[in-house]
Amino acid sequence: MSKVEDFLSLEEEEQIIAAIRKAESNTSGEIRIHIEHTSKIDVYERALEVFHYLKMDTTRLRNGVLIYLAVNDKNFVIFGDQGINDVVSDNFWDSTKDIMLSHFKNGDFKQGLIDGVLKAGEQLEKHFPWDDMDKDELPNKISKG
Ligand code: CA
Ligand code: CA
Repeated sequence: MSKVEDFLSLEEEEQIIAAIRKAESNTSGEIRIHIEHTSKIDVYERALEVFHYLKMDTTRLRNGVLIYLAVNDKNFVIFGDQGINDVVSDNFWDSTKDIMLSHFKNGDFKQGLIDGVLKAGEQLEKHFPWDDMDKDELPNKISKG
């Protein structure tokens, strides 16, 4: 069994998915997580690749957010679509990154991902509040490389 499969227990995955649902109940933004062993290329370029691969650039408001995690590299990226980047500053995700990093340093990946998702949801809500027209445009699943 690969390490990526072992990385989170089924129960932990369910808790993370519940966090995605909760985060998306307050914003029209769409949050996804992709986990893989290692990035063979620059981690930002890889996050962009995965973003397109997961068709995250197809949301109506271009407000998808990918949390990309390369487990063995101990590296992660929060990648937001164009609709978000057009309205926020470059350091928009810093507070979300800080929260995640503090948990990751303690080896608590589940809590890092949960708090990261919830914080990203709060951040998104400021610019992309939920409205009754909103749909769940991207599946609330954890993607694995
Ligand atoms: Ca949505
Ligand atoms: Ca979704």
